[in-house]
Amino acid sequence: MKAIINANIVLTNGILWDGVILIENDKIKEVKAQRDIKIPDSAEIIDACGAYVGPGFVDIHVHNGIGFSTSYDTIEASKYFLKHGETSILATPSYGMNFDALMKAFRSIKEAMDSGEAKSVKGIYSEGPYTNPKYGSHADLNPWRHGIKEEEYKAIVDEAGEYINVWTIAPELAGIHEFAKYARKVNPNVKFALGHSEATPAQIRAMGNCLPKILTHAMCATGRQKAFVLGFGPDEYCFKEPDMYAELISDSFGIHVHPEMQQLLLHTKGLDKVILITDCTYYENPIPEKYTGVTDLNFDHQGHIAGSKLTMDMACRNIMTHTNCGIAQAFKMASTNPAKALGLDEEIGSIDVGKTADLVFVDDKFNVKNVMLGGEIQTF
Ligand SMILES: [Zn+2]
Repeated sequence: MKAIINANIVLTNGILWDGVILIENDKIKEVKAQRDIKIPDSAEIIDACGAYVGPGFVDIHVHNGIGFSTSYDTIEASKYFLKHGETSILATPSYGMNFDALMKAFRSIKEAMDSGEAKSVKGIYSEGPYTNPKYGSHADLNPWRHGIKEEEYKAIVDEAGEYINVWTIAPELAGIHEFAKYARKVNPNVKFALGHSEATPAQIRAMGNCLPKILTHAMCATGRQKAFVLGFGPDEYCFKEPDMYAELISDSFGIHVHPEMQQLLLHTKGLDKVILITDCTYYENPIPEKYTGVTDLNFDHQGHIAGSKLTMDMACRNIMTHTNCGIAQAFKMASTNPAKALGLDEEIGSIDVGKTADLVFVDDKFNVKNVMLGGEIQTF
């Protein structure tokens, strides 16, 4: 038994000041105010020293850490993000990988997950390959312009198997329905995300049983088909659909998504449907002159923005900078909502009795003080 004391515990409905969390093995056993609890004498005491203790971050869209790819160096990458409070991540192969690279990435992630050494890796997020090559970084190099071929998609889906959680798709592509149906058949739990797309509402709704439930990085890499006045594309569709989650990249200068747009997103989707992601990606490309001084963005070979260099602690700080949300709301968007979107909320995503003791200790600026994964304090 372990007892975390002197904690300001971030619950889904508020903050429990001066709280105690009792942990037995890897599970949360009790959560109460210090004055209302009897801590067993045998319990190992962990003093949070007044830190905020919230549910570990769940980063569903994350490609690489510094020098570590979540695809090819999955174990090292998981440690890098764990240090920043990310107790759950989905390994995300780089956008635009060709067939061979994607197959290799899936094999490598599966191997790392099977080894038991990448405990924070909950599965795979495949950003493509069946997205619209007009949108996104490295657009000129996109190797998927030849369209959707049955023998290719079957091989990809079979390789991903039950390890995949999310496929990002562009519903306007010919053949996307066959791909999605096959993906759902191989793994009935898989979720579809809408992204790198210019689909109309009719094209999105035509996905039927494979309707996207998540918008891949809202307001980034989407387009609108020609319309008389204003087009209505994937972003607007997500704004309008109450059940749909919106991924948000919140960088320090609000470059991916303007601060006012982040506020609009929170206003339209509400606090329960926004998911903070890092979309962290490291390339060796230089920072274009107009972005001098910006350290948390990443760029492709043409100088276009290609993901970020964020970690989730930074993303939480940024959303508090750009909107009127506080610590509890940031935790909701970084932990609770993504766990729900993946259907993992019975296990993770909030501090509740019976859930896995994945916790992050932070100060009021989201500097990470300690990380607990499955009931074990991590040392780095
Ligand atoms: Zn991405």
